[in-house]
Amino acid sequence: MKLRIGFVAAVLAAPLVVSSTTSAAQPDRTPYYWQVPHADEHVLADLGFDVEHGDGGAVQVVGDELTAVRLRGLGYRPSKFDTVYKPVLPQARDVGVQSFYGGYHTSAEHAKHVTDVAAAYPALTQVYDIGDSWRKTQGQGGHDIRAICITKKQAGDCALSPNSAKPRFALIAQLHARELATGEVAWRWIDFLTKGYGSDAEVTSILDTTELWVVPIANPDGVDIVASGGNSPLMQRKNANNPTGCSGATGGVDLNRNSTFKWGKAGTSRCGETYQGTSAGSEPETRALEAWFKQLFPDQRGPGDKDPAPVTTKGVMITVHSYGNLIMPPWGWTWDANPNAAGLRALGQKMAAFNSYTVVAEGDTTGTTDDFTYGNLGIASYTFELGSGSGSCGGFFPQYSCVDSLFWPRNKGAFLTAAKAAKAPYAG
Ligand SMILES: [Zn+2]
Repeated sequence: MKLRIGFVAAVLAAPLVVSSTTSAAQPDRTPYYWQVPHADEHVLADLGFDVEHGDGGAVQVVGDELTAVRLRGLGYRPSKFDTVYKPVLPQARDVGVQSFYGGYHTSAEHAKHVTDVAAAYPALTQVYDIGDSWRKTQGQGGHDIRAICITKKQAGDCALSPNSAKPRFALIAQLHARELATGEVAWRWIDFLTKGYGSDAEVTSILDTTELWVVPIANPDGVDIVASGGNSPLMQRKNANNPTGCSGATGGVDLNRNSTFKWGKAGTSRCGETYQGTSAGSEPETRALEAWFKQLFPDQRGPGDKDPAPVTTKGVMITVHSYGNLIMPPWGWTWDANPNAAGLRALGQKMAAFNSYTVVAEGDTTGTTDDFTYGNLGIASYTFELGSGSGSCGGFFPQYSCVDSLFWPRNKGAFLTAAKAAKAPYAG
């Protein structure tokens, strides 16, 4: 999530019951979303709190009872807003599938899925290793970051070259590891496209004319950390860099603050959740994604901040985050409207017709993925924020059943709209 947009909080909603093994002698380490009235989110972030959507003078902080104690010690009056963990429902598991928290797939399982799909649909797919995660660069295990191209392949299709015959729609997910529903939605998108070719007329038409690229897990090390908590997933947002010196699952660099376009005005506290890293593109995941975007899309926008991408621009990028029920086009680095604001808003509204999200520009953050892909390359770029802030399908850790009951059906049409717009996203 972007850690910035406010929404109306159902403050008095009863918290869900969670099982707890906490004894009276031990502080409750269960994480909650705390509502903190009369607080400035930037001040709290600078103090090292994990700050979430605020509204007016109130902000949300994620943390346990000790977090609340610390807030009270600073003069704040936090109140419990909702639980982070939802009841984990029993599920029918596929034999041999690695999953956690009711069915969410591990990084390894997502990698296997991409490979399996490619083996099953060789005429429709091409898989690439686009770079290494931080741990892999350090010889500490880790992962390849995988991209899959999906199209009805003709000669030259799915090449890592920006001058493709077909327009391209690139979707990435789970750059923030703890935003669990996002990778699952990418998984559903991959399956929907490959299984639908030849039977679903809309999918068939899109695959005949368009390349759909997907990176379902953009931060695989982070997802490993999250999954290590099992039915109590860890709250890791960032990558696995900087593993020492920060308490809890707070090491790492925020990969959605590390992109190279206008980098440098996000978090500078290395244990903070929005830590931007030591330099623009310092992280291997960022470098892998940016190199890959440059291989997919030519630079179609001038170098000036006010240079619009032309109406002939091809290409759409969506980076899937949670939460907030938002579709957010650039800019992040400034509140000023970008020079394609009208076109971006128009396409955003077409997508919002399917998921009912609010279309609103980002505003106050630097180093985001979509600022890079729009700012550097000119392609129509969006951050999706799946879901609301509370309830069984809300927050970072919605119940797994919400993927198929809510997130995927809500966003399928939005992704199809993006795919169909890839040939001319600013043409209206
Ligand atoms: Zn996010």
